[in-house]
Amino acid sequence: MRKGKTFILSGPSGVGKGTVLKMLLETQKNVYISVSATTRAARSGEVDGIHYHFLDTATFEEWIAQDAFLEHAEYVGNFYGTPKKFVDSAMDEGKDVILEIEVQGALQIAKKRPEAVLIFVVPPSWEELERRLTLRGTDSPEKIRQRLQRAKEEFRIAYAYPYHYFVYNGIVEEAAKELDAIMTAEHCRSMERLEILCD
Ligand code: 5GP
Repeated sequence: MRKGKTFILSGPSGVGKGTVLKMLLETQKNVYISVSATTRAARSGEVDGIHYHFLDTATFEEWIAQDAFLEHAEYVGNFYGTPKKFVDSAMDEGKDVILEIEVQGALQIAKKRPEAVLIFVVPPSWEELERRLTLRGTDSPEKIRQRLQRAKEEFRIAYAYPYHYFVYNGIVEEAAKELDAIMTAEHCRSMERLEILCD
């Protein structure tokens, strides 16, 4: 019986984390993908409670006051946070938990849960990232400029911290395979195997 682990997946907005995660679910079955709360407006096609819990700023602040977040951070003018209770109940059920969050939040969790595995998804190039953000058509040119600037800052932080793994998202199938391999390998670590065998 495997124990649930926390995997943090960061990487620039537009790099394709969501698409990689969708493909990962074809091979990793015992996984809970955390649904974050945000104050940003829903994009077309996004559903409340599935893609995000969409909150107004006052409600987001209430959740902070109630200590309902495992972490929270501001990103390009909006707030984002990981609701604690769903993550904890998935862990209790022995599921792996994946948090798709930016680096400030990831570092807050790394302090609280040093066993968490930190993974950063990188684009093939900054030009390709700009192309993907533009194609998505959800942000103004100014927002795209801010997201690109933030992407470069996040990469520097992830490299310096350091994150444990960098997954390259040139081709989505290859990126999903890399992520799958990381998760499988993390469950083969000697401490976990010994704990299971000596139980
Ligand atoms: P987007 O607006 O493109 O959906 O997300 C912007 C950034 O916020 C992405 O880097 C995404 O990973 C991050 N993000 C999403 N949910 C959370 C969260 O709960 N906490 C933190 N710290 N970042 C989040």
